[in-house]
Amino acid sequence: MTATHPVTRFAPSPSGHLHVGGARTALFSWAFAKGRGGKFIIRIEDTDQKRSSDAASVGFLKDLEWLGIRWDEGPEYTAPDGSRVGGGPNGSYFQSERLEIYNRYCQKLIDEGKAYEAWDSAEELEAMRKEATAQKVAFRYRFRGPVSAEDRARFIAEGRQAVVRFRSGEVAVTIKDEVLGDATLPAGEVDDFVIRKKDGFPTYHFAVVVDDELMGVTHVLRAQEHFTNTAKHMLLQDALGFRRPVYGHLSIIKNPDDSKMSKRDKDKVLRKAVKEKGLATPPAGTVTAEEWARWIGDDNVQLDLEGAIRLAEALKVQLPEINVDDFRRSGYLPEVLCNFLALNGWSPGHDIEKFDNEFLKERFGLDRVMKTPAKFDRVKLLAFNTDAITGMKPEDFARRCREHARQFRADFLARLDDARFALLMTACQERSKTLDDPFKSNGFLLVADGALAFSDDKNVRKALGIGAAPEAGPTGLAHLRAMRGVLAGISEWTQAALEAAATDYSNAHAGGKIGALAQPLRIAVSGSTVSPPIWDTLVLVGRESALARIDRCVAWASELR
Ligand code: GLU
Repeated sequence: MTATHPVTRFAPSPSGHLHVGGARTALFSWAFAKGRGGKFIIRIEDTDQKRSSDAASVGFLKDLEWLGIRWDEGPEYTAPDGSRVGGGPNGSYFQSERLEIYNRYCQKLIDEGKAYEAWDSAEELEAMRKEATAQKVAFRYRFRGPVSAEDRARFIAEGRQAVVRFRSGEVAVTIKDEVLGDATLPAGEVDDFVIRKKDGFPTYHFAVVVDDELMGVTHVLRAQEHFTNTAKHMLLQDALGFRRPVYGHLSIIKNPDDSKMSKRDKDKVLRKAVKEKGLATPPAGTVTAEEWARWIGDDNVQLDLEGAIRLAEALKVQLPEINVDDFRRSGYLPEVLCNFLALNGWSPGHDIEKFDNEFLKERFGLDRVMKTPAKFDRVKLLAFNTDAITGMKPEDFARRCREHARQFRADFLARLDDARFALLMTACQERSKTLDDPFKSNGFLLVADGALAFSDDKNVRKALGIGAAPEAGPTGLAHLRAMRGVLAGISEWTQAALEAAATDYSNAHAGGKIGALAQPLRIAVSGSTVSPPIWDTLVLVGRESALARIDRCVAWASELR
């Protein structure tokens, strides 16, 4: 491939979930290559044995695939539609499976005198650091002279292990960056950094340089935090006789209050809610007493995702989405998330805001990538998502909600037969902002009739006519009692039959005001004054449950004063 056919890569370290910042890096890298007839590679940087996990690698791939970002080379993956992605001539695409390659290049540098073994113990390094601090200079490790064969043998006998350090030479390095602009690190700034760790694994710096060369990477787009690392990479490239990719570093995505978008934000929201509610113990079925105690006792402790979700549900708060999977769980559409992420750091100009990945691919270039951090505007994202849902064909909305339910709301699929599931979708599309809304706001459908809680609030009391003056005429509660009989007698439990029966009743007893009985019915079957259209709601709940719920509501409301 020549420079006109760029090769880009996304190289996550799989230590958790794919953060939206990472997703944007992947999206830009993909768009850059694919819009120019090039190739996009995924490489899993799992050389940090402590932090990497296989589950996380698979999670990253799943998230990317869901976003519609497909890779030409990389880990093999079977998408939910059965299509296969990945593989390729430059594998393995897991760095942990490439040790032999790194060792070969590392040895080459040692043989050429460009790298050396360093046997310092942790205590010795610490002493050097302290010494530098005492002299008020930054600690930079430099070559400390050759190690004799005897010393080497002694170190090995003592069980010491060596790292390999790169002899960086005290030269100035100019980092060339197509996004942020160039910057020069003065001579002496880069130390003799480690390229192979004691465990035999390469460091990030070494592996990234070797792999970018061997995989033919021409353009590297990555997070801004790697900007100064680029100096190390450039020195290594020169020492190894490698080509130099074009670099572009992407500024981070921030919260509107300028803080970093971090998974800790979820704990922050939960801690605030716990404090406001003055909770001393965890709500039942959320987290264990031990987890709670550890979490409450230390602001740095984070709850695991499942626990955090259960606690958020119990506290009725919305967890801020941070990772791609969070947005997916909340019912955002992948194409909307991609559109929105692209706008957080790039713009096509001409006030164009709505576009798809194809458009991005055609238009994306480094010249319009923003240098300054973008602020993640959740309100705008939700508005984008709402627009997309409103504009969707009903059958598409239903299909996508079903897919969502399969992943995250299986209890609705178990509870509702196909016809009622379809009805829930048509009843909800208009008011839904996310694919999760039809489920999130209709939990009453899952509750056992005997366990439905009626909300004792102002609107409910008003609709039922609790405490209303007798001269005001029949109360909502009275209509509910009467409607119980009407509904029990109708032959077909369909919207049309229900509406016709209710209309007859309201003409005869409620002055034609159907709301006077619709609201009490809604409260009875759903527990509150908000639900899908009432006749749909009654059909969704079903005859038997509806009648049982009305009986319970009448009994409950009769006790209210
Ligand atoms: N594994 C690095 C990270 O996740 C990749 C940096 C790079 O793209 O060079 O930050």
